[in-house]
Amino acid sequence: MSHHTPGPWYIAADGYSVYNDYSDLDKRPTAIAVTTDSTPFAPPDDEAKANAKLIAAAPELLADLHMVVANLPVHEATCTCRSCCVRAAAELTIRRLDT
Ligand SMILES: [Zn+2]
Repeated sequence: MSHHTPGPWYIAADGYSVYNDYSDLDKRPTAIAVTTDSTPFAPPDDEAKANAKLIAAAPELLADLHMVVANLPVHEATCTCRSCCVRAAAELTIRRLDT
């Protein structure tokens, strides 16, 4: 299992580049992603900036999923109540990210 770059992640002033430790001037930022380029495959400007926001939020979203799993009740394996469905979806996403 590999580990992602620790969060929080920030969007650079250009709106397309995502870094960690961006606000800490004593550390060298680690590049996470750049959501646009000069090829014909680059998304439209607004979409590229929205992609950067989504990527920058990823560590917090993952932490939220872990909080959901830790705090929702555990029922029998066949239960299909709303809490169990949300918990199962969160667990599935966490497993997908850990492989
Ligand atoms: Zn349940």
